[in-house]
Amino acid sequence: MKPALKSAEEETRLRDWLTARGEPAFRFGQVQSWLYRRYALGFDRMVNLPLSLRRELADRWQAFSLVLEQELSAPDGTRKFLFRLADGACIESVLIRSGKRTTACISTQAGCPVGCVFCATGRAGFVRDLRTAEIVDQVVFLCNALNERVRNVVVMGMGEPLLNLSELIPALECLCDPGRLGVGDRHVTVSTSGIVPGIIELARFRRQWNLAVSLHAATEALRRRLIPAGHRHPIAEIADACRTYRAETRRIVTFEYVLLAGINDSDRDCRALADLSRGVGAKVNLIPCNRTEGRFLSPPRSRIDRFAAGLRYAGIAVSVRQSRGQAIQGACGQLHRVFAGSSGQTPED
Ligand code: SAH
Ligand code: SF4
Repeated sequence: MKPALKSAEEETRLRDWLTARGEPAFRFGQVQSWLYRRYALGFDRMVNLPLSLRRELADRWQAFSLVLEQELSAPDGTRKFLFRLADGACIESVLIRSGKRTTACISTQAGCPVGCVFCATGRAGFVRDLRTAEIVDQVVFLCNALNERVRNVVVMGMGEPLLNLSELIPALECLCDPGRLGVGDRHVTVSTSGIVPGIIELARFRRQWNLAVSLHAATEALRRRLIPAGHRHPIAEIADACRTYRAETRRIVTFEYVLLAGINDSDRDCRALADLSRGVGAKVNLIPCNRTEGRFLSPPRSRIDRFAAGLRYAGIAVSVRQSRGQAIQGACGQLHRVFAGSSGQTPED
């Protein structure tokens, strides 16, 4: 398989190769500009490069590492894309528009090994980690689809980003490089199910990336019911890691809390979450559960409002996530399952 561009290593190889070939010094910049400013999805688009050079480049490298398999649009403007990777694995990315604000929601793994019980991705199991280029290319594709630069990136698609840090960090560095995709650090949010060593490692980079921790339960007994043992860390350790993240980056941490009717939405749950959030100085983002084929449902609006009001009363900053893209199975992993279900397996070559 040809190596994909969009990693520091391959870009250095490309630069050296162009120099050795006797190309003028500006060639590398031209290729970079096509990749990151004009969101070219192939060398054939790079019309200011000699045809023979375009062909040779295409023989050696992949300019873009994803194949679009399916696109769905929702009436609210949300667009969802299912991609096939070179080895047949599938991932999805979502483009969310809210007024002038555009947000790319990207995947970091095909499937997810954490296996949260209410999550379509988790239920489908784990396939593999994404490579740096496969992470970056999702944003490039969304910029191409939008025909302008995406301003915000949330790492909230398929997979657990902090279990794939070695590919995620170079991808985020590329996305936030002013000479490449130029996304502002403060416009990036990494969402984790609470992988403690990953949070601490991420903190060490001291970047201004936002951290969101999918807590879903403020007591161990409840959290145990929602997240299987393999990758579940103790809440007290997660809270400590969040404090470290805050201290290192000066960024506020958000706790994500998927509201599941009759499971984690009682007044008592609300008080426990308020205490924990206060201890960490975290904001809370309540997420009404999207229906998957599992047995989990969102509480009614009145209960969501009561839960949010309880947190506010306790002095916690709280937002309730607007459900976007409902009509196109907006929740994590759902498009993949619909697609896989319709053909009985993941797409073939
Ligand atoms: N693995 C990371 C990031 C991807 S999941 C994490 O768990 O944080 C992104 C968010 O989608 C998480 O907060 C997750 O809890 C939420 N999510 C998963 N399934 C959902 C569902 N059925 N309804 C609503 N939110 C869901
Ligand atoms: Fe994985 Fe996040 Fe889904 Fe849990 S919610 S299974 S961590 S993708």
